[in-house]
This record gives sequence, C-alpha cells and structure tokens, in this order.
Amino acid sequence: MSEITIIPDHIVRRIAAGEVITRPLNIIKELIENAIDAQSTQITVTFENGGIDRITVKDNGIGIPADKLQLAFQLHTSSKVISDNIHNISTLGFRGEALASIVAVAKVRCRSKYKDSTTGREIIFEGGKMQSEKDVRMTQQGTEMEIIGIFYNIPARRKFLRKPATERLVLLQFLTHIMLMYHGLHIKVIEKQRTKEFVVLESPQRKKMLAAIYDVLGAKIAGELAPVQGMASRWQVEGFISKPILTRKDRSQQYIRVNGRAIKHTALQKAIEEAYGSQLLKSNYPVVILDLKGQSDWVDFNIHPQKSEIQFAKDDPILEEITKLVQLSLTSKADFPKFHKAKIQEPQTAIEIPQNVSSAQQTAKTKSMMQYTIDAFVDNNTTTTPTTVMEVEEGFRILGHIMKKFALIEADNELWLMDVHASDERVKFERYMANKENFVMKQQLLAPMKISLTPAEIEFIKANASIFDHYGLKVSSGINPDEIFIHSVPAYFDQKISQESINAMVLDMMATVGEEDEKSVQETPFSKIEYRVVSRLSCHGAVRSGYFISNIKIREILNDLMKCKNPWTCAHGRPTIIRVKQVTLEGWFRRNG
Ligand code: ADP
Ligand code: MG
Repeated sequence: MSEITIIPDHIVRRIAAGEVITRPLNIIKELIENAIDAQSTQITVTFENGGIDRITVKDNGIGIPADKLQLAFQLHTSSKVISDNIHNISTLGFRGEALASIVAVAKVRCRSKYKDSTTGREIIFEGGKMQSEKDVRMTQQGTEMEIIGIFYNIPARRKFLRKPATERLVLLQFLTHIMLMYHGLHIKVIEKQRTKEFVVLESPQRKKMLAAIYDVLGAKIAGELAPVQGMASRWQVEGFISKPILTRKDRSQQYIRVNGRAIKHTALQKAIEEAYGSQLLKSNYPVVILDLKGQSDWVDFNIHPQKSEIQFAKDDPILEEITKLVQLSLTSKADFPKFHKAKIQEPQTAIEIPQNVSSAQQTAKTKSMMQYTIDAFVDNNTTTTPTTVMEVEEGFRILGHIMKKFALIEADNELWLMDVHASDERVKFERYMANKENFVMKQQLLAPMKISLTPAEIEFIKANASIFDHYGLKVSSGINPDEIFIHSVPAYFDQKISQESINAMVLDMMATVGEEDEKSVQETPFSKIEYRVVSRLSCHGAVRSGYFISNIKIREILNDLMKCKNPWTCAHGRPTIIRVKQVTLEGWFRRNG
C-alpha cells in the first residue's frame, strides 16, 4: 500500500478546475465574461480546431494593472467582490477561479495594458506554473488572452473532448447567443485553419436589440417576432418572442439574459412556452430573446459552477407572471395591419352562401352544402365585377380561392395565404369561448336525426348531455339502446349535417384526450371535456377544404378572424394565415437590389 500523502496543491487545482472547464466552450465563456466586465466595447475571438488547439480573446477593456497580473491568476482572487454579500454584485464573474482554472488545464499567455499605463505586461503559464513575466510594447488598452492546448497535460480529460467539429458548433452557438445578448458590443469571431483566417461571425455595435437580431439571426426570423415589454413580478422584461408561426424543433434559439448574464432556466423557458397554449404544436419551440432586469440579490447565480443556471427567490411569482406578459404580447395586434376595423361593403349583386341550413331544409331542396357553395362561387363570378377581386376598405383585397383550400389576399403590401378551414375553425372556436356563459344559439333540425353508436359512446354522450346542449347540440335517447337523436346543431355550424358528419364528430370527441389537448385547455376557460366538445364542434363545423368557397365567404371569415384574440393559429395550433412581405416577393424575383 502506498503512503498517504497530501495531494499537491497544483493537482487539487487541476481536479477543481475540471468542474469548471470541461471543454473549450467554458474557456471562451469565462474569457468573454471577463472582457465584458472590463467594459470592453470590442471583442475579437479567434479559435483553432474547435478551440481545442488555441483560443484567443482580445478586448479593449480597462486592462489589468501590471502589478496585479500575477494575482489575477491565483485561485479565489477577484477584483469584483466588493462586499460581503456575494449576491450583491453586478458584474458577470465573481468566483475568482476562472483564470486559475484555465491555467491548470492549458498553456496561457496573457498580455494586458491597463488604462493609464504606458506599456503592457505579459505573463506566461505552463503546467499550472508561471514561466515568465515581463513588460511588452502594446499600443492599445485592453487584454489579450491566449489559451493553447486544452488538457494538453490531462490526457484523460482530453479524451473526453468531442470531435473538433462538435466543439466548434457549440462555440459558434454560444457566440451567437452572446452577440444577441450584448448587442452594444462589436464582436468578431475568427476561425484559423492552418495559416488562413476567416471571419465566421461578426456583429457590429447596435443600439437596438432588434437590429442585432437582424444581424445575427437574419431578416426571416426578425420579421416574425413580437415585442415583449413590461413587468413580470418585480422584473423588468424586454425583448422579442416569435409569433406562433415561427417555431424551432428545440430550444437552441431561446436567449435569455438575467441581470446582464446569459442563462439557462428550463422552468422559465417552459413558462414562456405556456403562454402560447394550443398555438404551439407538440415538440415545437418558439424563438425567445428576452432580457430580465432586477436587483442583483433577487436571483442566485452561484448554484452552478459555470454560472449558466440560476435560481429565483422561492416566493417570486416570476414564472406565472412571465406567462401572462408573453400572452399579452402574443395577443396584441399592434403590429398588424389595421383592417380589423375596416367596414366591409357588401356588393349588392353578390349571392351570400346560406349558412344556417338545417339538414331537413337541405334535403327538401335536395342541395348539399357543396352545391350551394359552388353556385355561390359561380354567381359571384358572373354577377359581380369582371375580375373576382373583392375590394375592402383599408387596402385589403381578396383575390380568390385556390386548390379548394387556400385564399389569396392582398393586405398592406403583403400577400396573405389563408387556410380557409383553419381560419374558420379559429373563428368558431372563439365564438364558443365567448359563449361559455350563455347558451349557444341553436339551429333546430326539422326532424331529429338518428345516429347509431356503441354503448360506450352512448354512455359518453348521456354523461355529458348538458355540455352538448349548452353548446348547441341537443341530443336525446333513441328508441333502441344503441342510438341517439340529434335535435339541433349550433347556429354557426357551417357543415353539411348528415349522419356521417355528426357521427364522425362524436367519435372524434370521444378519442382520448391527448397531451396536445391538455396544453390547449389551459388557454381556454373550458374544462377538459368542454374543450373536447367545443374544439371538435369548431373543427367539424368549419367550412371544409375540398370545396370552392366564394370571395364573400372568405371575406366574412377573414373579417371574423381578425376580431379573434388569437387570429394566427387554429384551435389545434396550425397556422391560419401565412404572410409574405412585398420585399420577400421582390427577393424571390431578385428585384430588390
Ligand atoms: P472573476 O472574473 O470571477 O473575478 P477571474 O479568474 O475570471 O475571476 O478573473 C480574475 C480577475 O482578473 C478579475 O477579477 C479581473 O480583475 C481580472 N481580469 C480577468 N480578465 C480580465 C480582462 N479581460 N480585463 C480586465 N481584467 C480582467
Ligand atoms: Mg471571470
């Protein structure tokens, strides 16, 4: 058995450093945080081989005084702890271990010129030990950190590094994040391959966050964001979130900063997503760029060695409050064209599609909904203006219906593609929602319609008969135990009423309540079962795809849609309208240059 010895100090440090530094990302993060703390306005990052071989971070910050340079690399030294309360610190770093940790796992050369000094000072570390320190000529104030060969002295850890391509990717993701969060800084990222250098990312100094979003994420994403601004709990919140139409398959484009520091906080991210309710399909995530500002002691940064995770105070209702704030921003129409106030002028000659036609009336006239719709379409084309275009006030034109599914609309220098069914579904859903307290208007069928169902289905309907009744679907027991009678349907039921259609709807209502619905229920005043009934009534009662719809009907749906709280998605979270900007169209035709 070998002798028990005290572990040498430099090995203790190496072990401890492992907690902070596991990959090049951690080094870049610490160095950038230090540069930001030093009030730099310009930061240049250079890396080689995914950062494994070399990382350089050069800043124009205040620099490190020559006589403090050695000290900065010692464990638990920091110029940033200014009081006993370690929470009460507004800078990014205060653990005072980053530089000491880096020195323990890589070769380091640091050159720094402090603000009033005439010369710069250089210090070199290898094997955790200082090799040299001397004055050097430097023209610019600031600090340059060069980190060479991560884990060159710890093969076991070096083995755990991912492929350089992977390390490179996480570096670039992080740097993108930093560029968005610190849009006031000019950040340049250079990649070195052998003797060649490429600028891979660059973000100029920007006053406005949105301008930085354009730089970093591109016009496409920037164009689909809604501003968020206000108080959530005691925090001042500012930034942007994507409209429901723009989502990602993971959370990699969620950027949150708390008191100046980029953080990860899954519960906070989930609270933001919750605001979208049913507008977010399962496994879709919004783009989020948010800045939270408050007192430094309202949050604990020190629970995680890499300081990327934080903890809010236990009694801080920030999660519920942020949901509300984001909801507010999602339902605000400030950004949208003003047409929802438009008064619609109906062409006198046009024929309206009959809406509330009961099945009995339909049979009497032996006309299906489909025929009505086609008739109206034809009439519309022959009796109104020679073009099929319908003008509405405020520069909002309906151009027609294509593929028996979509409407084309010109609105405020945008081309809108409207999914007619999804839009009508949203309209109907919100009408039911508005009628939660009142009974929904019914259209009485002239003769009750008999529907055959299984005993379990009958049980379901009987158990929830009052809910069905409330929302316009009056049912009663049939003569045989396996049938029921439908006496009425909701007034705004735009579908052909037939045994098949009602049957399909009832079966759909009975399908197990899935996760998607769980989420959707939350944005509505409905109970789970009510939600089922109402969302199926909306879907099955909405105009169907696969038929031609007249411009008049389109205009009516569009007009109603624009009065909705959530006009941009159907009750299931699918988009209702896709908007194409004029500049986008011009781009397609290469007309913008
Ligand atoms: P911390 O940032 O937690 O204080 P670090 O080990 O990261 O600890 O840095 C130690 C000290 O070195 C800092 O407190 C700061 O005084 C100084 N320092 C590090 N990097 C820079 C920089 N880029 N510019 C100016 N000072 C720096
Ligand atoms: Mg630091």
